[in-house]
Amino acid sequence: MIASLRRMVTCHWSARRIERYLDNDPSAPLTLSEVRRLEEHLAVCEKCAHVGADQRALSRALSLWSQRRLVDEAALARMHDALNRVIAEGDR
Ligand SMILES: [Zn+2]
Repeated sequence: MIASLRRMVTCHWSARRIERYLDNDPSAPLTLSEVRRLEEHLAVCEKCAHVGADQRALSRALSLWSQRRLVDEAALARMHDALNRVIAEGDR
C-alpha cells in the first residue's frame, strides 16, 4: 500500500518533469538529483517510460515538421499543368 502510494507520487512527480528533461530546456533546467531520480524512475516504471517515449516521438515529429521545406510554387504549377493535360486527354 505504502509502496504503491509512493510510486504514484513519483509518477506524478516524474510526469511534471519528463518534458523538461527531454527538451533539455535551458530556461527550466532540472537539477542533477532530479535528473538522477527521474532516470531511475523511468528505468523501472513502464507507464512513465511510455510517456517519455511518446514525448520523444512527438518532439522528433515536431522537429522534422519545422525543418520541412516550403513547396516550390513553380514545381507545383508544373504539376498542375501536367495533371490538367492528363485529365484533358482522358476526356477526349
Ligand atoms: Zn511512473
